[in-house]
Amino acid sequence: MTAIATLGSHCSLQVLKGAKDEGLKTILVCEKKREKLYQRFPFIDELIIVESFKEILDQKCQSILEENESVLIPHGTLIAQMSSEEIESIKTPMFGNKWILRWESDREMKEKLMREANLPVPKPVTNPKDIDKLVIVKRQGAAGGKGYFMAANEEDYNAKRNQLISEGVLSKDETLYIQEYAAGVLAYLQFFYSPLKEELEFFGVDQRHESDIEGLGRIPAAQQLKSTKVPSFNVIGNSPLVLRESLLDEVYTMGENFVEAAKRVVKPGMNGPFCIEGVYDDNAKFTSFEFSARIVAGSNIYMDGSPYYSLLFNETMSMGKRIAREIKTATETSQLDKITT
Ligand code: ATP
Repeated sequence: MTAIATLGSHCSLQVLKGAKDEGLKTILVCEKKREKLYQRFPFIDELIIVESFKEILDQKCQSILEENESVLIPHGTLIAQMSSEEIESIKTPMFGNKWILRWESDREMKEKLMREANLPVPKPVTNPKDIDKLVIVKRQGAAGGKGYFMAANEEDYNAKRNQLISEGVLSKDETLYIQEYAAGVLAYLQFFYSPLKEELEFFGVDQRHESDIEGLGRIPAAQQLKSTKVPSFNVIGNSPLVLRESLLDEVYTMGENFVEAAKRVVKPGMNGPFCIEGVYDDNAKFTSFEFSARIVAGSNIYMDGSPYYSLLFNETMSMGKRIAREIKTATETSQLDKITT
């Protein structure tokens, strides 16, 4: 029997609950310090206790996963804590496309795939001298918004960068990525592409709540002006959003373009869950600054089903359960190789 395995963090509860509901065995690779937390959940059949998630690369861990015929579900923690080489070297079959995760981690590759998918991306600024509009300055990799800052010109950029270096948030030799700031309503569009059905499903939308940038809006301008702190975009949590129905057609088009581009650029393509992240401006025009090529933590708000999935399924369907359903169907029809890498 196939088992579903994942790392204990991010969206692991949702993923394993969904797997259990589909009648599959569930395995959690769990850091020792979190053992007590995860033991609270009866739908987790087996815990593999590790000191660090990197132990998933060890023979011992991989053997247990192999004995259980496990499929590993990648999420943000895997990407944040392991290099692309390490992720690609994992022998356990991974749900979706493990090769595309490198395209998510590397800023230049990311931009290339987004352009290939025709997504409207914010203009990058290669030299701080050329900053003539409000920009956002980002670190490499999935830093979760920590240490990101906004700048209006070169002087502002240098002042904030130096301040963050002196506070130990940034290192001196770190390459920063600058792009134009897109103002508007944040929307993180969550999709699932089924290679078995060759169909794209729109799952839902979430918004991220980021500290300190969000808290700033609650402070009167006079106090904001006196503050010397450089506000960061550190993610604290997520909340649901539904879109104006007139925007849905374009949402599907963006998702389909992304799936098509991924098929061309990084085989076998964008299989399974993914997310296109951006901002709607005053003309309801979407600008996308980011994608995630795997399940996002924002899907945790819909553990009991999302508004858009309730239109597609006559049952409660979380993203975790949708993944498990795809794996179950593939197992029953001997097509696991179609949905894993
Ligand atoms: P993660 O991997 O957790 O998604 P990340 O480190 O790749 O994060 P981004 O998602 O690119 O970072 O950016 C973090 C946050 O910064 C976004 O959620 C958004 O609030 C803000 N942001 C990023 N780029 C832009 C932009 N061009 N215009 C406006 N806001 C932006």
